[in-house]
Amino acid sequence: MVEGESVRRVLCVRNLSSKAYVLRIDCADMPFEPGQHIALGVYGDPDIREYSIYSSPGAPYLEVLITETDPGMVSRKLRRLSSGDCVLVNGPYGFFTLPENRDCRVLAVATGSGIAPFHSMNGAYPDLDLLVLHGIREEAEAYEREDYRQYLSCTSRADDGDFHGRVTDYLQGNEVDADAYVYLCGNCEMIYAAYDLLQEKGIAPEKIKTEVYF
Ligand SMILES: Cc1cc2nc3c(=O)[nH]c(=O)nc-3n(C[C@H](O)[C@H](O)[C@H](O)COP(=O)(O)OP(=O)(O)OC[C@H]3O[C@@H](n4cnc5c(N)ncnc54)[C@H](O)[C@@H]3O)c2cc1C
Repeated sequence: MVEGESVRRVLCVRNLSSKAYVLRIDCADMPFEPGQHIALGVYGDPDIREYSIYSSPGAPYLEVLITETDPGMVSRKLRRLSSGDCVLVNGPYGFFTLPENRDCRVLAVATGSGIAPFHSMNGAYPDLDLLVLHGIREEAEAYEREDYRQYLSCTSRADDGDFHGRVTDYLQGNEVDADAYVYLCGNCEMIYAAYDLLQEKGIAPEKIKTEVYF
């Protein structure tokens, strides 16, 4: 094993839909900052992938929110695990974290499972002024939205969310506070398009942080 790597037990798998689930791991002793990710794989399997931490520091477990993809080498295997099975965990990694002074407004823009780091931030800092803008296909993908203090779904396929359209359509048509920090997480298409829009709206590049999943 390399430094930082450990074998951990699965506590449970919480199914959110036919495609998405939360994997809970016995890994509460690993210090991390909300926004960071781990590298994770089935123990004994050579394939490892990165996953943002969904739970918040202080929880008696560590959780990740995973969307199964095609072909889904790792995301599908992890879903089939049961309580007591072993996973390989590495980390934590990354700098997609909040500024030290959190007395600021934060606009979090996510697509799909890119909401995971914002769930961790939301739970860790109850006083943080955090608005989550979540790009999904339909409202059924607004997983555990009741956990967030300020949440707005942008549904692209069905007209059943808070806003009908992509997160970039929402950003285009609405003002963004020039003093806010903006965090973008998910697929690169959204991140590039949102970044350009935010620059047009006068948000300084040093106020924008990005985490590209694929
Ligand atoms: C820093 C970082 C953090 C990440 N955090 C998460 C997370 O919290 N939750 C999560 O579900 N994934 C996350 N990912 C993506 C994850 O690492 C894997 O790429 C994903 O699970 C697919 O791996 P796989 O082996 O199942 O699929 P593979 O067999 O490797 O196939 C990959 C295919 O899935 C697509 N893809 C990759 N990620 C996604 C995704 N999230 N949604 C839709 N399509 C995708 C790719 O474009 C490609 O077509 C993160 C990636 C990075 C770089």
